[in-house]
Amino acid sequence: MNKRVISLIACLYLSISLTVMSKQTGEPKQQPKRIAIKAGRLLDTKSGAVTNNAVILIEGDKITAAGPNVTVPAEVEVIDLKDKTVAPGLIDCHTHMTFQPGNYYEDIFRKSPIDVAVIAHVYARRTLEAGFTTVRDVGAGEFIDVALRNAINRGDVVGPRMQVATLAVGATGGHVDINGFSPYLKFGGFSGLADGVDEIRKLIRFEIKYGADLIKMHATAGVLSEEESVGAPQFSQEEMNTVVEEAKMWGKRVAAHAHGTEGIKRAVRAGVTSIEHGSLIDDEGIKMMKERGTYLVADIYNDDYILAEYTKLGYPDKIIEKERLVGRTQRENFQKAAKAGVKLAYGTDAGVYPHGWNAKQFAHMVKWGLTPMQAIQAATVNAADLLGWNDKVGVIAPGAFADIIAVDGDPLKDVTELERVKFVMKGGMIYKK
Ligand SMILES: [Zn+2]
Repeated sequence: MNKRVISLIACLYLSISLTVMSKQTGEPKQQPKRIAIKAGRLLDTKSGAVTNNAVILIEGDKITAAGPNVTVPAEVEVIDLKDKTVAPGLIDCHTHMTFQPGNYYEDIFRKSPIDVAVIAHVYARRTLEAGFTTVRDVGAGEFIDVALRNAINRGDVVGPRMQVATLAVGATGGHVDINGFSPYLKFGGFSGLADGVDEIRKLIRFEIKYGADLIKMHATAGVLSEEESVGAPQFSQEEMNTVVEEAKMWGKRVAAHAHGTEGIKRAVRAGVTSIEHGSLIDDEGIKMMKERGTYLVADIYNDDYILAEYTKLGYPDKIIEKERLVGRTQRENFQKAAKAGVKLAYGTDAGVYPHGWNAKQFAHMVKWGLTPMQAIQAATVNAADLLGWNDKVGVIAPGAFADIIAVDGDPLKDVTELERVKFVMKGGMIYKK
């Protein structure tokens, strides 16, 4: 017997005897960890109020009590955040956490899905450390998002809670497709392309079978792809209706990527839960969204990054022209929709710009019409509602997950404080202190 086999047997014997010992001693089951957080200022995202000198009690991964009249029990771990503003963990409803562009052609021709998969956990950690304890990830290749979500849930990888959409569903030649190259170039892997009612139904069933929490549909053309007009619809009304109907049958919600006016309306009519981007929405579209309670998830920061960095990112001119076309209009239309009372949830398209910069959009939302509290509510209570996770995330209240962040100053006076998150807890575990 060689040395390795002997040590293997020794290990096996040791583990067997340890198991027996613990069975013999009959140790009591471990109690969930109890923590008290002393919060200097506590943001109540539900009411929009601020409480001074509050206490949050945590048991295991959940909050059991929170407020100014809560006392700190004996024998709990105390975390002192008396000089900080404490808020629920933030939620980004539009991320692509498995991906971050380096260079357009390099990414297409020199990277495989394996390159994408091995780096995704780095982006997940950056996102969590930025204070975003939950994300809705709206489109990834090869089910990498499912693998990442599962690894995070198992505790193997550090990252936010994730809802994942798997492959975005779209039409041949549309924003989901790879356009602008020779028809003889073939790309491998799973495809989100589906044309017509039958293909759409089959694709959605396939995605749900392999782990999709929601469905992402491309209702119109996009900016960062080489098809023509950014505003053009890319599914018929019948096709969009099918996407929503099929997803609903399986208990799933639909997020619709939609820049163009007509595509937005078709998607809203079909019954999607959210319109992503919403760049060229008109008054009628705004009215329809308000009437039906459709959320607008407008990524109004990343245009700054793309236009500043496009040489490095290597985007073809056609793409940059499209970005210039929609960037400012999208912000003006966001302001209109906000004024009209359309429901808003925070979503940034993180992945289009560097992961971990998710909070940079707060300042833009304030610049374009929201109060700091409204912007924070978009990233907490509203986002939780969009995800169907009301009272689980986005609030500091009994029964919610202990997802908690803290910043130095007062984000209601300077919302950019949220770009400098100093403390992050997710499910009662501290990830940044
Ligand atoms: Zn996106």
